[in-house]
Amino acid sequence: MISGLKGMLVTLRWLGKRNITANYPKEHLPVQERFMGFPGLLWDETADEPFCTGCMVCVRECPTQCMTAIMHDNPNAVEGKSHRRKIIETFEINLNRCILCGICVDVCNFDAIAMSHEHELASFARTGARADLGLLLDLGRKFQAEVVWAPKSADRNVASVVLTKRAAAEAAKVAAADAAPQADAATLEASAKEEPSEERGS
Ligand code: SF4
Ligand code: SF4
Repeated sequence: MISGLKGMLVTLRWLGKRNITANYPKEHLPVQERFMGFPGLLWDETADEPFCTGCMVCVRECPTQCMTAIMHDNPNAVEGKSHRRKIIETFEINLNRCILCGICVDVCNFDAIAMSHEHELASFARTGARADLGLLLDLGRKFQAEVVWAPKSADRNVASVVLTKRAAAEAAKVAAADAAPQADAATLEASAKEEPSEERGS
């Protein structure tokens, strides 16, 4: 009897308070900014291509071996629009085997992959958990927009930044090469002026 009354008191105390749970899946609560969902591939707007070069480091390091990737020659590099000589051609992650550990993100040297906020990719299809390049890029681009993503090493990985740095280095090299003959001529002239005074001294 007493325990029943205690139970009713608890119910009454919480009756007018705001719900902290949601009627999932009809209602979705927003995820925190640092929430780690499935990995997504990121997009370099400046070259209009993925950051991923298909280097395979993440594929080798993934503890569940759920990733595969193939690279190919980058046509944008041939046209001078990108510094990436190789670019990803196909990429697949078996999301059923992904344990959301984030190791692929930690080992990537190209700012190419991030743990997105996506966590709802259930499917009735037998191959529905296999995320291909298109889906992974969609996840990455959505994540970039959500968190106003910025690369960790823009000076190494963002095409426009790398190309600008390269152009500046080339220009400096050409300027140095142009200046070298003038410097040599000035040195010769100076030594020619010094020679007569040495003769006078002897
Ligand atoms: S988060 Fe972990 S398990 Fe998932 S793809 Fe990356 S390395 Fe593999
Ligand atoms: S995501 Fe990064 S580590 Fe993985 S293949 Fe692409 S560039 Fe290499």
